[in-house]
Amino acid sequence: MPISDGSLKDLLETVEDGVYFVDAGRKITYWNRGAEIITGFTSDEVLGKPCSANILIHIDDSGKHLCLGGCPLHKSLEEDCAVTADVYLHHKEGHRVPVSVKIISIKNSEGKPLGAVEIFKERMLLTDKIEDLKRMAYFDILTEVGNRRHAEQTLASRIEERIRYGVDFGLLFLDIDNFKHINDTFGHATGDRVLKMIAKTLSKNTRPFDIISRWGGEEFLVLLENIDTANLARIAEKIRMLVCASMVLVDNKAISVTVSMGATLAKDKDTTTELIDRADKLMYNSKQSGKNCVTIG
Ligand code: GH3
Ligand code: MG
Ligand code: MG
Repeated sequence: MPISDGSLKDLLETVEDGVYFVDAGRKITYWNRGAEIITGFTSDEVLGKPCSANILIHIDDSGKHLCLGGCPLHKSLEEDCAVTADVYLHHKEGHRVPVSVKIISIKNSEGKPLGAVEIFKERMLLTDKIEDLKRMAYFDILTEVGNRRHAEQTLASRIEERIRYGVDFGLLFLDIDNFKHINDTFGHATGDRVLKMIAKTLSKNTRPFDIISRWGGEEFLVLLENIDTANLARIAEKIRMLVCASMVLVDNKAISVTVSMGATLAKDKDTTTELIDRADKLMYNSKQSGKNCVTIG
């Protein structure tokens, strides 16, 4: 079944998914660019050949050769239905590629089967994996916010941006008050739940472009974009209040914590270390003033 429609062909050449057509005898009649990229086989190498001719040699999770039985294309043609399956195809260079396939049978206007189209995409792209690893390297698994490295890198790039474009930003340094007491009284697992709760309170109550990181055990940083002193003070106070008004339930008992905070705007010539140190010292002033408060500086 040849594809005669030029605009359809043009369209199929632009999609990232692999797409190929077979006729009723399962000979390949069309093979798009996506199929070439995913499989390594060019269109010239496969056109006119039966799909079982040592090309894709789909196998399933158990290693069973689907050309020898259970071929999803065959099933779609025989039963005149759409078939989806997760299989492993054979790449021209020899390795196996995990793909999700969808096969749709095609009939003419009299209902006579003409063939089928198979659309397939890689289930996990290598680039996704690399992105995942990058994310993990900057991610705090417990609280699902950025980790210390993430905070350092983001602050360094914001300092650069501030020098270049003059966009002011502020930093909040939060430390949970008497957290050791929470661990000692209710156990480490409850302490972990409190840490998660605080990270969520921070993420949900800041703007999408503000950045939350876990700086250390029970310390968090909040980087607030494009802000002045008055708004910095207002947001810091709102966060302090919201943390204080949050709770985790343990055996029907509500456990709440408070935070002490330092808040500061980035200044000219600030380095990452100087900025964090200043916010940390301001946080320490809040501890000295009786905890559960914000010091701006
Ligand atoms: P302060 O008000 O002066 O900050 O007192 P604090 O008890 O919060 O300070 P301290 O530094 O003495 O205690 C911090 C505690 O945080 C000690 C440590 O066991 C706990 N901690 C650090 N990381 C984790 C974690 O990942 N999970 C849990 N549950 N606790 C942690
Ligand atoms: Mg601390
Ligand atoms: Mg503390």
